[in-house]
Amino acid sequence: MTKTKTEKSYIIYNGENIYFTITYKNVKNMTLRVKDNIQVVAPFYVPKTEINNFIYRNIDKLLIILEKKSNNTYFNHQKNIVRMIGEDYNIIANISNSKSTWKIVGNNIYMNLKSIDDKEIVLRRIFKKKAEEYLKMRIDEISSAISIKYNSVNFKWMTTKWGYCDNKNNIVLSTKTIILDKNMIDYIIVHELCHTIEHNHSKKFWLLVSKIMPNYKEIIKKIKLINLI
Ligand SMILES: [Zn+2]
Repeated sequence: MTKTKTEKSYIIYNGENIYFTITYKNVKNMTLRVKDNIQVVAPFYVPKTEINNFIYRNIDKLLIILEKKSNNTYFNHQKNIVRMIGEDYNIIANISNSKSTWKIVGNNIYMNLKSIDDKEIVLRRIFKKKAEEYLKMRIDEISSAISIKYNSVNFKWMTTKWGYCDNKNNIVLSTKTIILDKNMIDYIIVHELCHTIEHNHSKKFWLLVSKIMPNYKEIIKKIKLINLI
């Protein structure tokens, strides 16, 4: 059995955090690849500094690849653009010693950050706020339009799924859903509402989804293209 260990890390380059994952494996040399994010495979004994240097040595190449992939990414770290409910917002960050705060004016998000590392944290807070406003409103609109009731809805940062529905019809939506376009968000909501009737992914479930959203398969394809870096 081969043992592996994966961890997240980042280097700071030109004031930006460049994130990557390190997978320690029984290998001889370090290798690098870019899929949805930067991935390093390294032998177990390699120190962190050597891995960081490895990334720095390849940084120009990496940034070009990331740039090409960034069209589908919700948060373009290099350009400071975040996509929410189908619209792009520019992030204008300012470092100050006070508490991290933010405000949205038009399509600009002004952030006052205690440290540059807080950008991601503040972004998550914005998603939470937007989720509580937009997703809550939308689930109620859709629920009454299709006459499918649910018990409660909550919003949580989730990294492996967009939402779920328990057997008491309490729905939890990922605050990250906010990065999707409107029709994709509607699909996620319809999907979870249908689970209040069919608590599984049976044929009956998909039939119900298709009755409400005949083009749901196309939407799923688009959602699968979204990178969650
Ligand atoms: Zn499901």
